[in-house]
Amino acid sequence: MKNTEWTIKDAEDAYHVSKWGGGYFQIADNGDLTVRPNGVDDGISFSIKDVVDEIKALNIPFPAVVRFQDVLRSQVKRINTCFRQVIEEAGYEGRYSGVYPVKVNQMREVVEEIVDAGSKYDYGLEAGSKPELLSVLAYNTNKNALTVLNGYKDEEYIRLAMLGRKLKRKIIVVIEKFSELKLLVDTAKAMDVEPLIGIRGKMTVKGRGKWESSSGDRAKFGLSTAEIIRAVQYLRSEKLDHCIKLFHFHIGSQITDIRSVKEAIQEGGRIYAKLYQMNVPIEYFDVGGGLGVDYDGSQSTNDSSMNYSIVEYASDIVYGLKQICDLEDVPHPNIVTESGRAITAHHSCIITNVVGEIDNTEESLDTKKVTGEHILVSNMRDLVDMLDELSSLQEGYNDAVQLKDDAINAFKLGVISLEERAKVETLYWKLLKKINDKLEEEDFVPEELQGLDEVLSAQYLCNFSVFQSAADSWAIDQLLPICPISKLDVRPSKNCSLVDITCDSDGKIDKFIDLDGERKTIPIHKLNPDEPYFLGIFLTGAYQDVMGDMHNLFGRLNEVHVYGHDDDPQDFYIEEVVKGSSAEQVLSTMQYNPEYMAFTIKRSIDKEISKGSINPREGVRLIDFYEDCLAGYTYLKK
Ligand SMILES: *Cc1c(COP(=O)(O)O)cnc(C)c1O
Repeated sequence: MKNTEWTIKDAEDAYHVSKWGGGYFQIADNGDLTVRPNGVDDGISFSIKDVVDEIKALNIPFPAVVRFQDVLRSQVKRINTCFRQVIEEAGYEGRYSGVYPVKVNQMREVVEEIVDAGSKYDYGLEAGSKPELLSVLAYNTNKNALTVLNGYKDEEYIRLAMLGRKLKRKIIVVIEKFSELKLLVDTAKAMDVEPLIGIRGKMTVKGRGKWESSSGDRAKFGLSTAEIIRAVQYLRSEKLDHCIKLFHFHIGSQITDIRSVKEAIQEGGRIYAKLYQMNVPIEYFDVGGGLGVDYDGSQSTNDSSMNYSIVEYASDIVYGLKQICDLEDVPHPNIVTESGRAITAHHSCIITNVVGEIDNTEESLDTKKVTGEHILVSNMRDLVDMLDELSSLQEGYNDAVQLKDDAINAFKLGVISLEERAKVETLYWKLLKKINDKLEEEDFVPEELQGLDEVLSAQYLCNFSVFQSAADSWAIDQLLPICPISKLDVRPSKNCSLVDITCDSDGKIDKFIDLDGERKTIPIHKLNPDEPYFLGIFLTGAYQDVMGDMHNLFGRLNEVHVYGHDDDPQDFYIEEVVKGSSAEQVLSTMQYNPEYMAFTIKRSIDKEISKGSINPREGVRLIDFYEDCLAGYTYLKK
């Protein structure tokens, strides 16, 4: 096994790039990870390593968020064309009228790009809070595109929405709880404008997976069937029932099993049909978000995966709804989706440099026999030398563990020296490595020895903070694909887990994607001190991007926005650089006063200068240095 040549096919098997890449990422023959930002075979493609080299040339420190803005555009196009095709094929009589929920990634550049790419499809926006509404009012100026407003609302929120109605925008206020209805009616009347009303149904079907609490009887949002009827009656009494334009549900994010979608369409479709038959003129059927992302590439119902494609998703919605409408003899409503994750996940990644290795199994000490050494040391050495003569590897392991425990106890009792203990430990790791190497040839691996690989794996120290950059991986065990950005044509020599530069013991990644579940280490190349080594954490464009900015006072990352471009010699160009947080900015957000901090340091230094323990020139340099650090990037400079 070890002697066969390593090819990029092996790299694909190790990192599954084409499985999670969504058509955007692949491994090139030269071992570079490449991006095909338009997602089509004949489109341009460029190497992420070239982008990294250019980032370095621009003197932008890592870690950095790299956004492929074309990917965002491609995803908007993908969902819109997909629904259009299925609708045409099915002879469905309604239109597709999707919206992008800004909470998934509120970055202005992301929202702008989506709005721009979606303008020819009348693709709209969804907001779930007042600040989000403020931004969608400013950005969704297309009068044919929907603006869907979810989330709990107060009077100000509703007044803002009615302001949008006065601007002739298609703003639909979705009623999440019954009491909002009266507020909406009163506010609209006071402002003399007709509202467009949506009703969110509480569905019994669950999304299955981590977010399933978004639906079911105890769901936070939505009206029960009894409340829906009351809502219609109330609006009828106010002569506003003709304003009910949309029926909405959202069964959860990252729907892993297509069966949940089918069930939701069955239930929601019937509710729509029955309401229509009650003379409620609903025009839009809004299936919410939930379209998944196959983070681990397994195409399964794993939490980090999904067992369907976007075409299947669209087909199940369109055909499912058509059938119910035809049976119930009601018109085919326009279809709205609120997909966020699926639109944004692929477009951004985090590039981090590996700054070091933590390996407690490294042979760090000369363990040659010396006269008069303690018998525990000799025994451990003999065990290493005679491993082949033992009846089993398990026996060798058992003896080694015993000897090591004895040595530690002996040390605690003052029987052996620190140096002797160190030798025993060095030999112990040597033995475990030897056992592990031999296990590769064995057909059967005893249970106790199965975790050996992991115990022996090194940890690579990466220049990033898990909380900042991969918050979900820490908070909800979200798996994200991680892959070296070059050298994929070279056999990786180590299995490693990753640790970040924060002092938190949770600041590590020790779960990696694998087609049948997850693995605890990732194959990585040996570090070469003269050659920087970069890893990409991918599919971070949804939710991740905007979470946990403040943890450990690291703040936001540097960002570069990359566009593909045919005429460019490199096929891409960096359009914009957004500087990450400086220490000063992060500290100010936490109510510190950097000026005062600099002043205190200066005062202390001045005191030392007057005492003569620091000379004045050095003192000035130290003060400057402190101030430079305050103004500088929060991550490691290397
Ligand atoms: C979060 C949310 C979405 C987005 O869900 P995705 O799974 O990211 O597509 C859509 N609609 C509502 C109401 C939401 O709360």
